[in-house]
Amino acid sequence: MSETKEHVKCLIIGSGPAGYTAAIYAARADLKPVMIQGLQPGGQLTITTDVENYPGYPEGVQGPKMMEDFKAQAERFGTDIRWGYVTSVDFTGPVHKIVIDEKTEITADSVIIATGASAKWLGLESENRLNGFGVSACAVCDGFFFKGQDVAIVGAGDTAAEEATYLAKLCKKVYMIVRRDEMRASKAMQHRVENTANIEILYNHETKEVMGDKTVTGVKVVNNKSGEEKVLDVTGFFVAIGHQPNTDIFKSWIDMDETGYLKTTPGSTKTNIPGVFASGDAQDHIYRQAVTAAGTGCMAAIDAERYLSDKGIH
Ligand code: NDP
Repeated sequence: MSETKEHVKCLIIGSGPAGYTAAIYAARADLKPVMIQGLQPGGQLTITTDVENYPGYPEGVQGPKMMEDFKAQAERFGTDIRWGYVTSVDFTGPVHKIVIDEKTEITADSVIIATGASAKWLGLESENRLNGFGVSACAVCDGFFFKGQDVAIVGAGDTAAEEATYLAKLCKKVYMIVRRDEMRASKAMQHRVENTANIEILYNHETKEVMGDKTVTGVKVVNNKSGEEKVLDVTGFFVAIGHQPNTDIFKSWIDMDETGYLKTTPGSTKTNIPGVFASGDAQDHIYRQAVTAAGTGCMAAIDAERYLSDKGIH
């Protein structure tokens, strides 16, 4: 299958905040890292607009610009950044095999997984068109922009419940669109939502359309029992129907939870495979922030450096 045989000390899979931070640390530790960028170079931040909660940018920064800065910093120390998508891995032996675009095989002494996660979307054309212009999948990232305004959030799990209460502190009114007659969220979270005065829960409702041309001007919903439609007068639309970690290719190798988040030894980025480290949203379903992803990317590079050093690989 492979035309090219290449061996590297440290291979980084993924190019979000975790991957680039791992690259900066690994390159400075002289691990000569090679990064395979993946399908969405720069990761989830390339589909957001303003980032105001990443330390070091007092005036805020556009998500895509921030990822260009991360990339430039990783390149400055010599990271070899390549286009490509990892299509399979083989972690049988001490030397790990990684196949890129189904044809190029690279072997690596250490692997840092930073493949991230993808937010799930409803799949509406209007939701996609207004993504970043009033439509968001992260209340903690974007809620601030809707201070004092009315917003809607779709979803009924713990994330939606948590984000609805977060938004309720900032916004005038929050509509929570729930497709069934009950929520999936834990009872404690349900009670918190029900007891928040400015949250209105719309049970048995589904979203038909996000309205607006350049920004969100409303959301059309339908009651799936009565068929009655109405328009919610909101300027923000949040989608919180779950995330999917991008970890399918690691399924038969790395221990993961039932949703697919990679398991790491607490306090480290070590997976069940020696020399394979996991960082960022691929292993974190709780915090999911750029800064926490960057933090675990740093940890992964330090863990990889110590692993290689213990093995006498210099
Ligand atoms: P979940 O998978 O738990 O919930 C997703 C929700 O989105 C469900 O209520 C589901 O509805 C709804 N949904 C899915 N697709 C659609 C759709 N097309 N239209 C409308 N609604 C839709 O995801 P979460 O992100 O909420 O949680 C993931 C995991 O993380 C869970 O195990 C959760 O408990 C955990 N978590 C824990 C927290 C904590 O403990 N503090 C905080 C956040 C998450 P339906 O119920 O009808 O299927």
